[in-house]
Parts: sequence; structure tokens; C-alpha cells
Amino acid sequence: MPTERVKVLIIGSGPAGFTAAIYAARAGMKPVLYQGGQPGGQLTITNDVENYPGYPDGVIGPQMMVDFQKQAERFGTDVRSGMITSVDFSGWPHKVTVDERTEIEAEAVIISTGASAKWLGIESEQRLNGKGVSACAVCDGFFFRGQDVVIVGAGDTAAEEASYLSKIVNKVYMLVRRDEMRASKIMQQRVKNAPNIEILWNTETKEVLGDEEVNGVKVVNTQTGEEQVLEAQGFFVAIGHKPNTDIFKGWLDMDEQGYIKTIPGTSKTNIPGVFATGDAQDKIYRQAVTAAGSGCMGALDAEKWIAEKEVEMQEANA
Ligand code: NDP
Repeated sequence: MPTERVKVLIIGSGPAGFTAAIYAARAGMKPVLYQGGQPGGQLTITNDVENYPGYPDGVIGPQMMVDFQKQAERFGTDVRSGMITSVDFSGWPHKVTVDERTEIEAEAVIISTGASAKWLGIESEQRLNGKGVSACAVCDGFFFRGQDVVIVGAGDTAAEEASYLSKIVNKVYMLVRRDEMRASKIMQQRVKNAPNIEILWNTETKEVLGDEEVNGVKVVNTQTGEEQVLEAQGFFVAIGHKPNTDIFKGWLDMDEQGYIKTIPGTSKTNIPGVFATGDAQDKIYRQAVTAAGSGCMGALDAEKWIAEKEVEMQEANA
């Protein structure tokens, strides 16, 4: 297998990866960035982004990622298409395999592989994605101000997003598939106390209705079998995210959901020279701007680590 040696390897092309690339490239580390299976990451399936500072008129998600990439390339980032299919962090330099074909040796690895929203998996949800169906209330809630929306889920994310939406929209229907919620007590209380959130217990989604955009949701009560149509213009899915970290299992410390553990206040993982940034290690904030900030941390941590490693090697050779 052909082997190439690079200084900094960045895995992932969302806000975390490209920000890490901008910083690493400007520090002269000649980063190589592999884009992965969804170049541009989750923002490429979003429409308008209105909460990223510096864009007073908002920006279209895919355009924003084109801008991130241009900025990273302007300073010399080598942006490549390809998937990292396996890693070997047993020694140093770190080894990764691209598309099961090429091996790369990297002095430092910055992981920015992100997370993917979980979806219900019904046809209408996919068809109306971006046309009223969303997996991010903080990103898209504003577009439904004064309207009625439905949110599915009963964990902390769903509760937090339902509360967030309730301050913007006219009414929130919250679909909980069991007769209790998984969310923390305080979050449940907040949802129950909101005058414009109606919780529908034991309720599942049958179909999201609408041709060009969402105009209702057909739901079913799993106890009685009774179906009803809720009139709504927005349909939010908040049933959890899955971090894209499978290839690092067995090498990096993770929590039970697969989020990579970092030393608090840093991007350092349990393996020296391997740094984790963005949604791959953040299940709480998950915003483009927080991911970008964490990508910056990854590059600064990697730069410092490489400098220390070089001193260490010079001393060993002296
Ligand atoms: P969770 O996995 O905690 O909850 C997912 C929810 O979605 C569950 O209520 C689950 O129902 C429901 N669900 C799953 N699949 C379906 C389906 N097909 N149809 C309908 N409902 C479904 O994910 P979260 O994203 O809420 O939270 C992830 C982690 O992040 C948690 O540890 C959470 O505590 C944490 N978090 C913390 C926050 C904070 O502290 N501020 C904010 C956000 C998240 P069921 O209960 O029946 O399985």
C-alpha cells in the first residue's frame, strides 16, 4: 500500500474541520483535509443560516461551506475527496487508511467527523426535508414564527427544542412515543409549564402531509389506534444524533453514545497527537459556531503538540 507522510491530517469538512484547516494552514502546517462522505457536513442539508456571526443577512448553508473551503484553500490546505476507512493509533506517526487503498502517516490528526441527526425513516419526512421538515430547531425555528409546529422526541434535546420553539411559534405539538419522557425532570417541567406546548403521549407519526411544503402531520395513538391530523407548518425531528466516530472505536475513549471524550477545555483525546473537535465530541451545543471554535482549538493544540514533539525528537537525537 502506498504511504504518504503529512504533518497535520484533518478528517471531516464541516465548520470544525475547515476552521482547523484555516488555522493549521496559516501556521504553516500544510494540512491535508479529507472531506468524507458528506462534503461540507450537516450545513449542506440546511437552507438559511441566520445565526452565524458575520453574516448580517444570513447565508445559505451549502454556500457557507463553499466559503469555508475557499478560505481554507487560500492558505494552502490540501482538500481531498475520500473517506478515512480505518485508523491505527498504536504508535507514532499515526496511520490512517483512505478508501481502503492509500495509507497516510500523520504527525497529528484532527478529527472533525461530526454527527448525523437520526430520522424517523418515513418517506414523507425525507421528501419534505428542508420544506418544513428539520432536525434543528435552533437553526430553523425562526422560519415558523407565529405558526404551529410538531416536534418528535422526548429526550433533553426534544424538550430543549420544544421550549425554544414555544417562544417563537404559536403552538408546539410534542409527540412522545411512550407514556413518559426520557428528558431530565427540570426540562420536562419546563415543557409541561409552557402554555403553548401540547404533549401528545403514546403518539407516533404516520405521515408528514404536504406537497411542496408541510401543512400537517398525521399521527396515531399507539394505545387506542386513533388517528388524527395536526395542522402544522413545521415538523421537527429531535430523536437524537449519532456521532460519526465508528472508525475510532477501540482507540479513543468515548461515552456510551460514541461521542469522543476530550480533556475538558482542550481538544486532546486519550491518544497524544490525536485531537477531536466539533460534533464528534459535543452532544450539547452542536452549532456551526461552536464547532468552528472547537476546530480552532484543535489546530492550536495540534500545532503546540507538534512543536513539543519536534523538540523531544531533537533532544533524543542530540
Ligand atoms: P436521547 O437519546 O436522550 O433521546 C431520544 C428521544 O427520542 C427519546 O425520548 C426516544 O424515545 C425518542 N425516540 C427515539 N427514536 C424515536 C422514534 N423513532 N420515534 C419517536 N421517538 C423516538 O437523545 P437527545 O438528543 O435528547 O440527547 C442526547 C444526549 O445529550 C442525552 O444524554 C442528553 O441528556 C444530552 N443532552 C443534554 C442537554 C443539556 O444538558 N442541556 C441538551 C441536549 C442533550 P424513548 O424515550 O421512548 O426511547
